[in-house]
Amino acid sequence: MDGREETAGDTPRSGMLASPLVADLRAANEHLLMANLRVHELATDVRDINERLLIAGLREQELAATLARERAQLAVILAGIADAVLVVDQDGWPVRTNAAYARLFGHSDTGAPLDDAAGQPLPVTATVQARAGRGETFSQTFSVAANDGGRRWFEANGQPLPEGGRDHAVVVIRDITLRREAEDALRRAARENSLLAAAVANLETCVVITDPHQPDNPIVFYNPGFMALTGYGPDDILGRNGRFLQGPDTDPETVGRLAAAIAAQRPFRDVILNYRRDGTPFWNEVVINPVYDADGRLTHFVGIQTDVTARIHLREELRHQALHDALTGLPNRLLFQDRARQALLGALHAGQPLALLLLDLDGFKEVNDTFGHHVGDLLLQWVATRLRGGLREGDTVARLGGDEFAVLLPADDRDGARVAAAKIVEMLAAPVVVGGHMVRTRASIGIALYPDQGADADVLLRQADVAMYAAKRAQSGVAVYDPALDRHTPARHALIEELRAAIEGGGLCLHYQPTVELTTGRVSRVEALVRWPHPRRGLIPPDQFIPLAEQSGLIGPLTRWVVEEALRQCGVWQRAGLPLGVNVNLSPLNLHDATLVADIAGLLVAHTVAPATLRLELTESAIITDMAHTATVLARLTALGVGIAIDDYGTGYSSLAYLQRLPINELKIDQSFVRHLTTNETDATIVASTIGLGHSLGLRVVAEGAEDAETVTRLAALDCDAVQGYYYSRPLPPHELERWLRQHDEAAPAPPGASP
Ligand code: C2E
Ligand code: CA
Ligand code: CA
Repeated sequence: MDGREETAGDTPRSGMLASPLVADLRAANEHLLMANLRVHELATDVRDINERLLIAGLREQELAATLARERAQLAVILAGIADAVLVVDQDGWPVRTNAAYARLFGHSDTGAPLDDAAGQPLPVTATVQARAGRGETFSQTFSVAANDGGRRWFEANGQPLPEGGRDHAVVVIRDITLRREAEDALRRAARENSLLAAAVANLETCVVITDPHQPDNPIVFYNPGFMALTGYGPDDILGRNGRFLQGPDTDPETVGRLAAAIAAQRPFRDVILNYRRDGTPFWNEVVINPVYDADGRLTHFVGIQTDVTARIHLREELRHQALHDALTGLPNRLLFQDRARQALLGALHAGQPLALLLLDLDGFKEVNDTFGHHVGDLLLQWVATRLRGGLREGDTVARLGGDEFAVLLPADDRDGARVAAAKIVEMLAAPVVVGGHMVRTRASIGIALYPDQGADADVLLRQADVAMYAAKRAQSGVAVYDPALDRHTPARHALIEELRAAIEGGGLCLHYQPTVELTTGRVSRVEALVRWPHPRRGLIPPDQFIPLAEQSGLIGPLTRWVVEEALRQCGVWQRAGLPLGVNVNLSPLNLHDATLVADIAGLLVAHTVAPATLRLELTESAIITDMAHTATVLARLTALGVGIAIDDYGTGYSSLAYLQRLPINELKIDQSFVRHLTTNETDATIVASTIGLGHSLGLRVVAEGAEDAETVTRLAALDCDAVQGYYYSRPLPPHELERWLRQHDEAAPAPPGASP
């Protein structure tokens, strides 16, 4: 290009020559110049063409490579596909296949069938190949019998290929055997589930399913058993939380544990008090289990509910039996001890006192022996009813065994307990008709006090027992525990030693209570009653130290001293012209004293008194305990000429049958009958019949405890022989008795209302 430009640059300078040759030359040059230019252009074109050719060649190579790459990739993809891929021609004959196809249907990649020894290839069905050959778009399931004897299931999807030529259509075949099996299993499961559902429907046990993913975990399934149990109908159950079964007495604590288990997706099992639709309660054993899906997610709660009311009742019954007395239904010793412990804790915290009463029926054994156990049982039931009815709400009454009852009086001190005990004694004193028999019991009650005495239930119970024994011996009805009477306390040991010294050293004394003959008003006999003038304690009544003497082996020496002193006194009186007979009380233990009879014989001689002066008083129970032995002892005593009196008659055995067989002279009606003689007709009847019976047996009948003129008048009217009681005189020291006798003989020789 530069050259051309240079040539053109010269032209204007030569054009200044005006000659024809020059003009021709100029023309020829111009032609040459043009020709050169053309050659130059052509060369350029050739160069362009060459370049283009080069580029096109490169492209073709590139395209081929891409194509090859894509083919390779496709082959890899096809080989890697789990489904069999099959390309067919217009006849349905395989043109191209993949590895999976070869594996499943036994053809090589090239379409040639494989029939090596590895096993029969599975045939693709003719239908599938025909449809593919026709270029249909289709989906078809087919199955083939497999070598293992089972069946394999396939799903074939066919599609024509566009502008395919020989590659007419493609068929993708998928092995769906596993899917089919899963579906079959599901179908089977569904069939079995309906069986299960039928089974669940027929269960008597309730089945309930709740859905925790809905608000308030509502019931989404229940079986008819649930309706039968609860009485709720189909419309009341679904969609509700199961708590509608709860009621006023459902234990909130158990409900709380149930709710906590649900919240924590934990299993739950317990018995809950539920209520039926009609309001009746029942004990429901609820078992709830969470149900999880395959991924461990909570789907439901399944509840099994069983009416265990009968079982609970049986359990409660057994528990009740274990803690209660079968006869009276009262708490037994076990439960009483437990209650006492609790009451003590309560008293400790409240800073309040507490009283424990132990009650024993006097002469219960005799009731049993006389009328039979049936009557005894009825009597115990009656006592239980009276006790229960006569006490406050918070008081506990228990039967500890036999005829022994216990009462717990929370918040009662000494005075409160005494009042309550006196009330009980009074309550039980009335005669009662049980099993067609008139029975009278007398209660002896021992009182132990917290905090005065013990702070332990067992200690209190033992102390009450000691006090009760003292009350029984004293026939005082009620006694408060006194450490001096308790064999386990040092105070008692000291007292025993003092008593021993008193017996040996003349520290005891006798008071005498006169017995007045109702027909004559005269006094022919007195009862000797022992006293202990204690230097510090004052005059101790016999009921407080007789038990001590009995428990410590001092009753033998004590009785000898009483007999001796009474005989000595009678000797004195007889010599002074006062011919009084004397009654001396024997302890039941004295009957088992081997030397007693011989000792008494010796004392009678020593004091030179007539044997008939002495009359020994024995209680019914002392006689009954060992009848054969008693008969021997009494026979020996009567052989001496000594008389026998039955003391406290009516409180125990109350049977005159044994009296016929024993050498008895006197019957002393217990003061508990005499006390209410004028106010209680039953008592009057008992006294009247006892007098009649005594007389029919030839016995002298003495009424004890007459405190007023009215009673004495009544006794006289009933033909009672003699009366002993405060109305005439309390037990008196000898000198006072003598004075009383003188006054009595002068002032009132005959009892009030008695015929002269
Ligand atoms: P007991 O043999 O039944 O004696 C009668 C008791 O009743 C006496 O009590 C007497 O004071 C009391 N008494 C008499 N009249 C009346 C009355 O009108 N009203 C009331 N409320 N009571 C009256 P004491 O002297 O305290 O004797 C109690 C018990 O002690 C006696 O009951 C007896 O079982 C026993 N006892 C007394 N002295 C001896 C004895 O020397 N040896 C033995 N083993 N026991 C004795
Ligand atoms: Ca007596
Ligand atoms: Ca008596």
